[in-house]
Amino acid sequence: MLKFVTSSCSNVSLTLPENDSNKNPDNNDELQRDTEKISLSAETQETGSIKSNTNEINYALPDIYGDEGKNNDEAVAVVNNLPNDVASWPEVIDHHLRVELVKAGPEKYQNKEGPFASSSRIIKVGDSTKLERRSVSKEWFYKILKNGDRILRSWLLYSKKESGLYCYCCKLFHFTDYALFITKCFNNFWHLNPRIFEHENSKIHKECMEKWKELAMRLQLQQTIDKNLQKHMDEERKKWKAILESIVDVILFLSKQNLPFRGHREAFESNNQGNFLETVKLLAKYSPVLSKHLSDIRISKKMTTTYLSPTIQNELILLLSKKVKNIVLEEVREAKYFAIMCDSTPDISHTDQMTLIVRYVTIKNSIAQLKESFLNFFPLSGKTAAEISQSILDELELNNLDVMMCRGQGYDNASTMSGIHAGVQQKIKNINPKALFVPCGNHTLNLAGVHAVGSSQLSDRFFAVLERLYAFFAASTHRWDGPSKACANRAEASD
Ligand SMILES: [Zn+2]
Repeated sequence: MLKFVTSSCSNVSLTLPENDSNKNPDNNDELQRDTEKISLSAETQETGSIKSNTNEINYALPDIYGDEGKNNDEAVAVVNNLPNDVASWPEVIDHHLRVELVKAGPEKYQNKEGPFASSSRIIKVGDSTKLERRSVSKEWFYKILKNGDRILRSWLLYSKKESGLYCYCCKLFHFTDYALFITKCFNNFWHLNPRIFEHENSKIHKECMEKWKELAMRLQLQQTIDKNLQKHMDEERKKWKAILESIVDVILFLSKQNLPFRGHREAFESNNQGNFLETVKLLAKYSPVLSKHLSDIRISKKMTTTYLSPTIQNELILLLSKKVKNIVLEEVREAKYFAIMCDSTPDISHTDQMTLIVRYVTIKNSIAQLKESFLNFFPLSGKTAAEISQSILDELELNNLDVMMCRGQGYDNASTMSGIHAGVQQKIKNINPKALFVPCGNHTLNLAGVHAVGSSQLSDRFFAVLERLYAFFAASTHRWDGPSKACANRAEASD
């Protein structure tokens, strides 16, 4: 598989010790993850941007590394799009969302300046029949200490939408089905005294407050380390992306031009390292990233990731070919009907290789276009019509093409292929009678020519003499000069 390698980050290791289940027997998974201790050791490399030297920093990472729920980017987007009302928070708050809400802080959702008009209620005071108007007041957002100091209740949030009060930290860190200030807003404002004091002194609230403050602190601490790491990783990602893009371009270019990739001697000191490496070197003249990559490889004493080896070349060729083939197949399936053309020839290893070509019509913007695409080579399992037709059918199935949608077949005139009783074309026609057979035009013309010449003794002799004359002159460069000069003079004279 193709992997981006961030070699200079590889010395940063994260180790997760096992949870101490004896200490936290009652905690659920999420709470345990909150308190997991992670030891992070970061080592500086010469070229790295991380400045801390082999630091053993022990701190609990926030649970943003949990694998369920939204990813970080999604959570950021959700929080950014939230209105400043706690009642608009999603019902289920996962790890990422909790982290982003803690990063955002409670201020945005406090609404401590009001307006509180919508919370206004008329209530009966005590046992008397006297009615009084009560609503949330700004004063409840402040706690008066015994020494007279006035401090902000940062956890208290007012929802304009529900005209009630919520607790920021309990809503984020307490997981119950029903509770005042948490899943249900508090709107009996005439009972705020003593309910608000009861809540802020409750065990649940104190625990949630502690978790909130701890997570906020950890996030603040992590930001500075993470920022540098992130920056470094981004730079690495950009570098490898640029290198890979250049390499992919070279592969596409050589494939399109049908040029061989490899050279006989591919070492750096070789004068000709082959088309692939020489083209990469040429591109490096105009690309600083690629140029630095090549010089890094040259000076590097140990094995490094180069993305230039024959293995990666083959892997990229395979990936690109799969991509191109999938696009072609997608077009064929979209066109619905298609025709196939096949012909075989032995390769250098004496294996009979069959080519599979499809013809189909695409219609885009009311313009019809006839397309002919080579799909692949496949080795033939045998020479008989039955074996060849089975190979073709297998290959169509492998490419997810339905033979019943085939409307044409084109092969040479050899009887195995074109035989009207037991040829390949008839065997395929037996399955799909609509797959009409059209013999190859070039092959037919060639056969017609050969037979036409052979039918007259005079023309047979003429072509035999012509062929011998050609062989006589072509056998020597000295002899070849005579007729070629004569032809040139004749051409000049006729001009
Ligand atoms: Zn609370």
